[in-house]
Amino acid sequence: MHPHNRYRRPYDIALLSERVPELRPFVIVTPDGRSSVDFTQADAVRALNRALLLSDFGLDFWDIPADSLCPGVPGRLDYIHSLADLLGEVKGPVTGLDIGTGGSLIYPILGVRECGWRSVATDSDAVSVRGAEAIVRFNSVLRGRVEVRHQAQPAHIFRGIIHPTDRFTFTMCNPPFFGSAHEAAASARTKWLKLGKRAETPANFGGRGNELWTPGGEEAFVGRMIRESQAFRSQVTWFTTLLSRATHLASMRRVLAKANVGEHRIIAVETGHKRQRLLVWRW
Ligand code: SAH
Repeated sequence: MHPHNRYRRPYDIALLSERVPELRPFVIVTPDGRSSVDFTQADAVRALNRALLLSDFGLDFWDIPADSLCPGVPGRLDYIHSLADLLGEVKGPVTGLDIGTGGSLIYPILGVRECGWRSVATDSDAVSVRGAEAIVRFNSVLRGRVEVRHQAQPAHIFRGIIHPTDRFTFTMCNPPFFGSAHEAAASARTKWLKLGKRAETPANFGGRGNELWTPGGEEAFVGRMIRESQAFRSQVTWFTTLLSRATHLASMRRVLAKANVGEHRIIAVETGHKRQRLLVWRW
């Protein structure tokens, strides 16, 4: 984890469940006497997230539809701190653009509350957009600092979203990962089985199908993002995205070279148990 990530020290589940009582039904005591959360219960991650966001980030309200992708807060915070390092040299107020914010609005929340940034958040999924808007509306600390915009054309990323007068310090993205609904469902089943559940339990565990896949998967999505970024080069300082597969690096480097991007860097981040990388570029 990033050295500034507050969750380098494990969170105190007992204290959290005192502050946010909805967490209590999910708290278990491990054989060595520690309090933990029973992650085999479908709503446990959602309850833990709510507890963390209310208790540690000063939100009044946070929720997502039960079948939506539920982000791990500590891992998402690593991206934010890595961005803060990258922007270290940038002077003045920071405004970010989050591509594919999900119903959780997780990155804009962490950006505003941890770093004092402003944010525009987009998603192509109408249900996620409504959820994200509700989170802004019900939190005075977010109102006026976060704006949600619907991407009506899923084939586009920045087009239709970045207006002519907009200026962004950075863009960020946790891209849809899988290439098809089938691939997403197969991975969900594996996860579910690892938790000791039976195979026929929900195939869309932790994310409604369309949140998790895009034609061509991560590789095609990030490739498009790089190519589209050229048209917005004068409006954005840093373009950034997570890349979950190291094997995609080589093809992304080819796209960057072909588009003649001025500069790019690869930054290691840890999102939960996974080692991932940020691809960042500027024109
Ligand atoms: N940022 C959230 C969700 C990531 S999942 C998190 O980290 O947990 C990827 C998201 O990208 C989904 O919500 C999906 O609906 C969205 N998405 C897919 N194509 C998109 C596009 N062209 N523009 C904006 N969002 C898109």
